[in-house]
Amino acid sequence: MAVKISRRAFLKGSIAAAGSVAGSTRIARAAKSVTKDDKEPIVTLLDISKCIGCEECVHACREANETKFPKPKQPFPKMYPNRVPVQDWSQKQEVTDRLTPYNWLYIQKASATVNGEDIELTIPRRCMHCQNPPCVKLCPWGAAKQEENGLSRIDSDICLGGSKCKKACPWDIPERQTGVGLYLDLLPALAGNGVMYKCDRCYNRLEKNEVPACIEACPEDVQTIGPKTQILEKAHALAKQMNGYIYGEHENGGTHTVYVSPVPFDQLNKIIEKGKGKPHLSKVKNMMADGTNFAKAMLIAPIAGVVAAFGKFYLSTKEDK
Ligand code: SF4
Ligand code: SF4
Ligand code: SF4
Repeated sequence: MAVKISRRAFLKGSIAAAGSVAGSTRIARAAKSVTKDDKEPIVTLLDISKCIGCEECVHACREANETKFPKPKQPFPKMYPNRVPVQDWSQKQEVTDRLTPYNWLYIQKASATVNGEDIELTIPRRCMHCQNPPCVKLCPWGAAKQEENGLSRIDSDICLGGSKCKKACPWDIPERQTGVGLYLDLLPALAGNGVMYKCDRCYNRLEKNEVPACIEACPEDVQTIGPKTQILEKAHALAKQMNGYIYGEHENGGTHTVYVSPVPFDQLNKIIEKGKGKPHLSKVKNMMADGTNFAKAMLIAPIAGVVAAFGKFYLSTKEDK
């Protein structure tokens, strides 16, 4: 552990001294491709012990996904009744210390003592990409969807911003921006109130076999992406090697994101800053195994597909005009 601390301190010092080293590192890094297996979902392993908290991944995510960020129209329509509050991040786009509609990845910090040594851990946080995502199963409009490779994403053309996905998510991940999306055309005063945003796993890059921007930009190779079986094997080998712990393999019935840490996650969960836009690291039971959620999902599924198709049809007629 002592070696790890001095290496981290050295790297942080080097980056500060070099000023823009982080930026140039990103440009210099060669593009990587994703190894896929059509029969298996894609899983990401994050080795927390390697992360130096440089935020290169955060800035790469923002650059790569900028065209998907909300461009709200002002003034916002007044809602009747005012059940869904206005959430406007358009004037705070520079915020990087939490999740927002303009920041889908942030670095959570924790100080801990391991084997008598004081260490600082930095943890990249974003959507966990659950195997059986409640955000997808409980979205009444079919706006949240899961791809064959396991990633989940919210279609900003269809989402009405009612935030069912956020309420259903065990980590409260999706964030709303008011004044954008389909609700402005359909029911501006009565339904929704914007669009929900979260990490979409850089689905458009994955389609081209390119790794997500945050993975490509990382100077420490914190993340490894690949077929589930291979990545879980790596995660267990790494945990064994560092005498460490795994998070995400069983949470919410299993996710496509697996963290490995030298500090137990229940201990980390006590010392990280949690709250709005800052997800916890607690154990999570399988939300979709809950009878009520399961029944709701069964009811929603056939309707959601029809509503999503209507949303797409409505948008195409608008584009034709
Ligand atoms: S994951 Fe990589 S790029 Fe992101 S903060 Fe950690 S070391 Fe930096
Ligand atoms: S972490 Fe939340 S937003 Fe992400 S897939 Fe799971 S339920 Fe959906
Ligand atoms: S996978 Fe893509 S969208 Fe998700 S955090 Fe990384 S860069 Fe951002």
